[in-house]
Amino acid sequence: MEGIRIGAHVSSSGGIFTAIERAQAIEAEAIQIFPSAPQQWRKTNHTPEAIAKFHDLRAGSDIGDVWLHNIYLANLANDDAEQLEKSVDSVVNGLTVAEAIGASGLVLHTGSHKGKGLDACQPQVCDALERILEAAPGTAILALENAAGHGGVIGKEFAELGALLKTVGNPRLQVCLDTCHAFAAGYNIREPEGLEIALTEFDEAIGLENLAVVHANDSKMELGGLRDRHENIGDGHIGDDGFRTVLAHPAFRGKSFLLEVPGIPTEAHPKGDGPDLENVRRLKRLRDEALG
Ligand SMILES: [Zn+2]
Ligand SMILES: [Zn+2]
Repeated sequence: MEGIRIGAHVSSSGGIFTAIERAQAIEAEAIQIFPSAPQQWRKTNHTPEAIAKFHDLRAGSDIGDVWLHNIYLANLANDDAEQLEKSVDSVVNGLTVAEAIGASGLVLHTGSHKGKGLDACQPQVCDALERILEAAPGTAILALENAAGHGGVIGKEFAELGALLKTVGNPRLQVCLDTCHAFAAGYNIREPEGLEIALTEFDEAIGLENLAVVHANDSKMELGGLRDRHENIGDGHIGDDGFRTVLAHPAFRGKSFLLEVPGIPTEAHPKGDGPDLENVRRLKRLRDEALG
């Protein structure tokens, strides 16, 4: 049976290829990177040389899977036409970069309806998703991420993401499951029964075959806390036992678990410099215990 890759979000500052070296330094088996600075609309121009170097370095590494994460400014539910077009453009760019570097796909926070409800903005969001997939042809997956659930963010309930996937009906549109967001949204994934309930709901709404990748983050918030606060593996409310439970479930075989954790505080980095080697090692240990 297939295993699970333990990976991490890494910086690519200094050129997209620099991500490979940073990943190797923390023994990551998979990586996630931003296509450009996440808080800016300005796109990074990845030169053909930088992309060739990325391919070369990756070929000589143990990195088995590469993901991009879209910039944070995008909101496909935005009322403002200009902001919506900028959002669409950023996702097209992210998918195009994913295709160029041979990544599996792009993770996207679909957006926020700011309390209007998903029904009100679903036609706009689905139209945007269709346009994006058409403007960025290829095989790279667009993975919508589940959300912790505050501020009208789309994707707290799996049913919301499922509705978007069903309406768009494109096999390239899939889902990224973030463990911290799911837990904060009220899915009790740290307990075997709670995990089973969550995955049954996921399967009915989205289809387990559309689970593309996992964000492995512990949660500073309690179950159902509705806020997105990542914690280092084992130090939050999901905990070591919770991650062992998740990692042991057959639904996750063959997937990459990507860390987006703050990192263990050190003298040089009192707030942590994560995802760091210690978190990668913690999750690998839990994986090895879970899978025997
Ligand atoms: Zn995430
Ligand atoms: Zn988060």
